[in-house]
Amino acid sequence: MIKEPRRHQAELLVIGSGLAGMAASLFALARGVSVAQVGNSGVIAFTTGYLDLLGHDERGFVDDPWQALIRLREDEPRHPLANVTENDIRAAFTSFTQSLTEMGLGYTAPGAHNVLALTPAGTLKPTLSLPLTMQPAIAAMAAGLDTLIVDFTGLNGFSAREVVANLSQRWPGLRAARIGFPDMDSGAEVYAEVLARALEVPATRQLLAERIGPLLGSAQALGLPAILGVHRPDHVHRELQSLLGVPVFEIPTMPPAVPGVRLRELFETRLPQCGVALEPQHRVKRLELHTQGVTAHLEDAYGEVTIEAAAAVLATGRFTSGGLRADPNAIRETLVNLAVSQPEGRAHWYRPDYFDPRGHAINRSGVMVDEQWRPLDATGKPAHPRLFAAGSLLAHQDWIRQRCGAGVAIATAYKAVDAATQAARSG
Ligand SMILES: Cc1cc2nc3c(=O)[nH]c(=O)nc-3n(C[C@H](O)[C@H](O)[C@H](O)COP(=O)(O)OP(=O)(O)OC[C@H]3O[C@@H](n4cnc5c(N)ncnc54)[C@H](O)[C@@H]3O)c2cc1C
Repeated sequence: MIKEPRRHQAELLVIGSGLAGMAASLFALARGVSVAQVGNSGVIAFTTGYLDLLGHDERGFVDDPWQALIRLREDEPRHPLANVTENDIRAAFTSFTQSLTEMGLGYTAPGAHNVLALTPAGTLKPTLSLPLTMQPAIAAMAAGLDTLIVDFTGLNGFSAREVVANLSQRWPGLRAARIGFPDMDSGAEVYAEVLARALEVPATRQLLAERIGPLLGSAQALGLPAILGVHRPDHVHRELQSLLGVPVFEIPTMPPAVPGVRLRELFETRLPQCGVALEPQHRVKRLELHTQGVTAHLEDAYGEVTIEAAAAVLATGRFTSGGLRADPNAIRETLVNLAVSQPEGRAHWYRPDYFDPRGHAINRSGVMVDEQWRPLDATGKPAHPRLFAAGSLLAHQDWIRQRCGAGVAIATAYKAVDAATQAARSG
């Protein structure tokens, strides 16, 4: 193969293709900014599909995230969400969920309160916005409908009996059944993503409905693991509901899970159609920062790629995605070597008790930003006037404990794009 160096130009470069990177590209497109984006698989395929804003604080589960944000601004003024106004968070969430819905992956609009949504184990967690394929669970649980939960022979990471056992006190009308998935019922292991793709075929849906129908009995609703298609889940969902005649809902499975694969494949298909110069499954190897903007260097199967942009948003995630790295004695940011807020020495990374309710200091480490979302260098000054940061890479938040993963990603991407657009257009 002849390898040829290529050069792209854009107003904005987004580095990272997790929730923050994807949200940044969508927000930039909405502002009419030309975008180039680079990123490989991060933790997006692990997510449940729920978009949490703020689900937990020191008092426990949060019902009203907007009130909890007021407390957060007082208690944790350096938290990234404490530095975005309520109006901006609402605008960011609304714009993001509307874009997803318009692109073919229906999401509920963010409301005044969190809803309690089902986890893969049948416990509950507060979240702000959820896929439409999962939404009927909320009404079915509230009404205490007689409901059948079905799982499949050979499918790991989801057990209908476990869901029923954990939920039955709160939801007494639940019952579990296990069946073989049509044409994949030899007893061998089956995978949620494969089942999801199979259900995009009408004949498979028909066969599945024929297997489930006789089991429904008095059930007024049906819960399935999240397998209702990858590309047109709302269509698959509607079709299955009409074949079975009862509301159907999905429950997330253990990762890697279909709802995250849906998000990743949706973005990878639709963003280029909207004009984003997307380099999926690649990493920026080197980022040069200069007066006129940034130059990113990477390599794909056809050779070297150089991207020049007037500004960049760094959304490279934490340890799993490669944005942060834990060396024996220090945590560092991997691409630009930005300053990282971190505990004094490795001995302070973790508390002795893994389940300590206060969490572990390492989880709050990350890149610090100024009020313009520009990452700081070791002297405490912005590392570069045209470099911005967003998402879980940021310091002073513990998204796992605070159930604020999508909230931090979406709200900070919104602000970082705002600031980056101004910088890019400032000449
Ligand atoms: C198991 C699991 C379940 C979760 N469930 C939920 C949930 O129910 N609700 C919720 O709100 N959140 C959930 N989250 C959290 C949520 O997924 C994260 O908070 C969110 O994905 C963070 O987005 P991000 O874009 O900041 O980082 P990431 O998603 O980690 O993305 C970082 C991206 O940067 C890329 N990257 C890194 N280095 C480079 C480089 N040099 N060049 C180019 N690209 C680079 C990575 O490949 C990746 O694409 C869950 C996460 C996990 C792991």
